[in-house]
Amino acid sequence: SPVILWFRQDLRLQDNAALHAALARGGPVIPVYIWDEAGEGDWTAGGATKWWLHHSLVALDASLQTRGSRLIVASGDSGEVLSDLITETGAEAVYWNRRYEPAVIARDKIIKADLIAAKIEAKSFNSALLFEPHTIQNKQGKPFQVFTPYWRHCLTLPMAPAVVIRKGDFPAPAEWPASLEISKLKLLPTIKWDGGFYEAWTPGETGAQAQLKRFIAKAMEAYSDQRNTPGIEGTSRLSPHFHFGEIGPRQVWAAVQALSKDSGVFPPNKGSQTFLSEVGWREFAHHLLFHFPQTPTEPLREDFKKFPWAKDKDGALLRAWQRGQTGYPIVDAGMRELWHTGWMHNRVRMVVASFLVKHLRLPWQHGAEWFWDTLVDADLAQNTLGWQWSAGCGADAAPYFRIFAPVTQGERFDGSGEYVRQWVPEIAKLPDKFLHAPWTAPENVREYAKIGGNYPDPVVDHAQAREAALAAFKSLRGDS
Ligand code: FAD
Repeated sequence: SPVILWFRQDLRLQDNAALHAALARGGPVIPVYIWDEAGEGDWTAGGATKWWLHHSLVALDASLQTRGSRLIVASGDSGEVLSDLITETGAEAVYWNRRYEPAVIARDKIIKADLIAAKIEAKSFNSALLFEPHTIQNKQGKPFQVFTPYWRHCLTLPMAPAVVIRKGDFPAPAEWPASLEISKLKLLPTIKWDGGFYEAWTPGETGAQAQLKRFIAKAMEAYSDQRNTPGIEGTSRLSPHFHFGEIGPRQVWAAVQALSKDSGVFPPNKGSQTFLSEVGWREFAHHLLFHFPQTPTEPLREDFKKFPWAKDKDGALLRAWQRGQTGYPIVDAGMRELWHTGWMHNRVRMVVASFLVKHLRLPWQHGAEWFWDTLVDADLAQNTLGWQWSAGCGADAAPYFRIFAPVTQGERFDGSGEYVRQWVPEIAKLPDKFLHAPWTAPENVREYAKIGGNYPDPVVDHAQAREAALAAFKSLRGDS
């Protein structure tokens, strides 16, 4: 009898534990993807991740076709769709890989109970994480809230190897159930803002593997030194592939381990060690979301609930930030990179997040929502961690009083100005020494670089904004 293989955020064929188990059953395998917006709770996919999903599903279907199989696509309530498919195909089992978002966990629990009640074999597997959140606790039996002890503890535990999927065709059912065309899910934008995405990305498992290879060959060894320079491709850019499960952390681990085969030294160099610990931050993010499910909207540190946010009349400040019109080049470059490519370098994410929360004193939740809609790697666990970290109200967060100075950050991490010149072309002609603070350039230089009406003056003054932020923070602690 057939097994339904329910694809979710595990859009790959290799290292897929649910697929492996489905094949091991021996019967026909029916791969299914269900577009179920309501099942995501308050966090239905944003515009950029929908773009990615469309192309990832196309890629998955193509790889399945090379295995004599195909992807059945449906839309609607997951439980109902599965139940209809079971009736239509006579399937006796449904297998899937686990996800960790609170609303999805709740939904999946109900689906599993309903399937079991209907005498259907329902099994879930782990393909997304090295260490699942419910398996990790500190000596007091509590979740970890600080990264270093968390990761040190994880690294003492056994790690499952990547699952190898055998070569050859997957057994197909005598008759395929009906399927929607992927385009019918209407995931692609109707207004064409996605042109830059096509240049930047190749969604799908093949694209993910190519990206991993490129990173290991060209950038991993120097990762510790180059990961903070947004003007070069010094990081892996695997995040959207990770989010959709086109690649899994076990595979990444194995690829790095393979480099240690001869020397026996693991990790093989400093760069790979730092890189793997960033993969550890991804695990930590899922650990936190699982144990603190309120954190996508509420600060983990409760005292921050009373934070005196600034009033943003007409939403003008938020808009300036979203559009990359704050007058601070490193901030604006980041926001425009995000808009054009669906991605932003991590260093710049920290700078723009700090700017929103501390310089503009706007709620971090507004930033998280904008990122949710515009990032191709928008991930509830990682986005929540990133914003709470930046706002100083999360686990192991940057202290609130450490305020990134955008000019200094720009000069330090984009000293040659490559990044700013790419994304803020209207000031590209400014000499390096004024590039990160165009308003300090003398009139004749501004005239020469033609930045008069083109590029805005800073929306807030750094020194004043810094004082206001510190005062707001002090009021929170009650010692103003
Ligand atoms: P690499 O440097 O090559 O790192 C490898 C992998 O490790 C990444 O693909 C990612 O999965 C993980 N990783 C790296 N840094 C972090 C981190 N700080 N926290 C958690 N995981 C990390 N990442 C997302 O994947 N989705 C998000 O929605 C997201 N939102 C963020 C919001 C803010 C405000 C901040 C400051 C960070 C956010 N991050 C998010 C984390 C980080 O910026 C990205 O994971 C990283 O820039 C992706 O680029 P990369 O794949 O080249 O990373």
